[in-house]
Amino acid sequence: MKIKKGDTVLIISGKDKNKKGKVLEALSKERKILVEGVNLVKKHQKPKKTGEKGQIIQLPKPIDISNAKLICSKCGKPARVGYKIIAGTKNQKSKIRICKKCGQAQ
Ligand SMILES: [Zn+2]
Repeated sequence: MKIKKGDTVLIISGKDKNKKGKVLEALSKERKILVEGVNLVKKHQKPKKTGEKGQIIQLPKPIDISNAKLICSKCGKPARVGYKIIAGTKNQKSKIRICKKCGQAQ
């Protein structure tokens, strides 16, 4: 997946369009991400003990990865993500994520 946990993303469609947030969880199987403060749904929480009041809490729900864009940590702009193969020692190769705009590894 192009987006990982801990990334900052820009939401590009839906009701939270133009919001920025941190990725709390990346669900690669479903190709969804959970973003802080985005796609919040209200949930009624029942009182845990008698005498306590029930509460309404807001929880983020995962959104489709195609609705978000990675924000580059260097240029601060929504980045087109590319990959670069780096040859390491002992014939090891590693793939790194880069911003196509400035070339910064993400
Ligand atoms: Zn960049």
